[in-house]
Amino acid sequence: MRLAVLSDLHANLEALDAVLERLGSERVDSTYVLGDIVGYGADPDAVVERVTSIPDVVLISGNHDLAACGRFDTEWFNDKARAAIEWTSRTMDPSALDRLAALEPVLDTAEGLCVHGSVAEPATEYVVKDADARKSFEAGNFTRCFFGHTHLPTMFVREPDGRVHGSVLRDGREVSIDGDARVMLNPGSVGQPRDGDPRASFMVVDTGTARAVVHRVEYDVARAQRKIRAAGLPDPLADRLARGR
Ligand code: ZN
Repeated sequence: MRLAVLSDLHANLEALDAVLERLGSERVDSTYVLGDIVGYGADPDAVVERVTSIPDVVLISGNHDLAACGRFDTEWFNDKARAAIEWTSRTMDPSALDRLAALEPVLDTAEGLCVHGSVAEPATEYVVKDADARKSFEAGNFTRCFFGHTHLPTMFVREPDGRVHGSVLRDGREVSIDGDARVMLNPGSVGQPRDGDPRASFMVVDTGTARAVVHRVEYDVARAQRKIRAAGLPDPLADRLARGR
């Protein structure tokens, strides 16, 4: 089974289309989308339409998706994120919002447990450090977990002796997810990378060969920025796309 794993698309159509084009040559059997489909970016309806029409797609929601359809308190967000969420729920097509409202931030699949944030708190908690990952490994008995929310391509491994260690996943470097260790994999963010590399990030996992690899693809950042400004969304949301922060 070959899986494409995408997360944190954040209504960035240019980034998503660049990733989908690249995926055309990857021959994947299924595509997992780990939430935050909307929020921050200027194309929420088009991005919802695109992801729901991917063949064999598995979708979960993130905190931004839940907030956009009124299922999550926007008090949790900072001012810029809240302004973007309010714009998003105001401008989105009701049928696209209904599609988001039908999703949950956690879903167990045969290939692994999918959560947006963490296993204990799928909608909200960030898994950044080894200690965060340890909490998730203790909160569930999964072998493999896919997560997003931090916008950082990372892997955490729990060895049979209980040690947990994390690593940053770099563009094109394959890692093994084989053996007795349990693993948590984060593909990074399609629509708003925050690791200093502005290129869209996604992951391909081959469960047969037990390999995972993150790919980074360039996209038309300037066009995505222009749309954010034209929509009247906060300027810093456009600025940060060029920095990948
Ligand atoms: Zn996000």
